[in-house]
Amino acid sequence: MDTNPFRNLPSVDRLLQVEAVAALAARWGRDLTVEAIRETLDAARSVIRAGGAAPAETDLVAEVEARLAATLRPTLRPAINATGVIVHTNLGRAPLSAEARAAMDAVATGYSNLEYDLEAGRRGSRYVHAEELLCRLTGAEAALVVNNNAAAVLLMLMCFAQGREVIISRGQLVEIGGGFRIPDVMRQSGAQLVEVGTTNRTYARDYEAAITENTAALMRVHRSNFRLLGFTHEPALAELVALAESRGLLLLDDLGSGTLLDTAPYGLIHEPTIQESVAAGASLVSCSGDKLLGGPQAGIILGRADLIARLKKFPLTRALRVDKTTLAGLQATLRHYLLGEAVEKVPVWRMIAQGEEALAERAATWVRALEELGVSAQVIPGRSAVGGGSLPGETLPTRLVTLSVESPDAVAARLRAGEPPVIARIEADRLVFDPRTVLPEQEETLWQRIAKACNTT
Ligand SMILES: *Cc1c(COP(=O)(O)O)cnc(C)c1O
Repeated sequence: MDTNPFRNLPSVDRLLQVEAVAALAARWGRDLTVEAIRETLDAARSVIRAGGAAPAETDLVAEVEARLAATLRPTLRPAINATGVIVHTNLGRAPLSAEARAAMDAVATGYSNLEYDLEAGRRGSRYVHAEELLCRLTGAEAALVVNNNAAAVLLMLMCFAQGREVIISRGQLVEIGGGFRIPDVMRQSGAQLVEVGTTNRTYARDYEAAITENTAALMRVHRSNFRLLGFTHEPALAELVALAESRGLLLLDDLGSGTLLDTAPYGLIHEPTIQESVAAGASLVSCSGDKLLGGPQAGIILGRADLIARLKKFPLTRALRVDKTTLAGLQATLRHYLLGEAVEKVPVWRMIAQGEEALAERAATWVRALEELGVSAQVIPGRSAVGGGSLPGETLPTRLVTLSVESPDAVAARLRAGEPPVIARIEADRLVFDPRTVLPEQEETLWQRIAKACNTT
């Protein structure tokens, strides 16, 4: 052996001739493989410079393999959500129904009539696709779908209030998450924010007193992620609508989540529905497609036909337009509501509607399955959350499967690191898994992953 450890490192060419590496090059291409070899050798040289020994060839080969795998692995990949937070923004919000996925796949696979009028045989508009269903389900005159609700809010403000004033209650100047703050969006849109009332109490007369000839709209923003309790007041939407109408102003209603179904029958507080806002006479209502609606990411604007027509022609709309797969998925999701099957078919609603008994049964099955894999687990009562900027503080009773492991953090980290990643919750120093948000077809995989993460302790 040479006394110079650098010389003990093989060359790129020599490594390429090792059988396992040659197989990688044949499978993934020479360029990517050579790149992985170079990175591996660079890393080895750093180790040597720091006083270490040259790694053995088998270790180098293993690292080339690992580096190549890391390069090829998509950064965005499916995960198992065992947190019990149904609309989990960090985990991709709403899982889609089989029908929505099929509809998206169908238009993604080939061509479609996205902007083609089949009857007339000429150019059509992509905006017709979900509009009719949205109107039918909500009673709105017209509708427009854009990229997300943040885009919807920005678009409404830019189109109708740029350079003018928009009056909003101090109790509704919310930050949604990811830094989306209503005052910032207003500033960005060029609309001037006029705050009225106090944090806890705002009356219709506060809005009225703030109206000037430069006022464009009154705006209501749903407090989707926090709650005001105690000595509070805010005017009913109908009251604000009446005021806006009497002064020739628009009433913009950012509902946030947007739901077509009542949440109250599931033991949750009543989340304002889209239909209620439309019926109360809001000029325009906006909401997300992927919160309680349970569809793909989208921003939905509904309301007066003349206003929607102006939005469709507004230049910014083009920059916020949705993809064909989104429209297909949204349409298929809305069809579930039309058919009265949303609670059975839309995953978000199926998860909300899951009863304690069914959850207890699933949890017991998990414990038995884990037992067979050599993992001891127990069932404890717990709470799931709806999440995703809806129903703040509201929870649903559930059954949690808990593991008594020495280091919950270490097991949780291993669960996140594996494939597919599993995201669990740590509660009172215990690792817990909520069956509510785990899709039935993921159960088997989850048990395997848990067993593997525990048995390597
Ligand atoms: C979630 C939310 C938004 C942002 O919607 P996205 O679809 O995430 O862009 C805006 N306003 C309110 C009140 C919300 O709850």
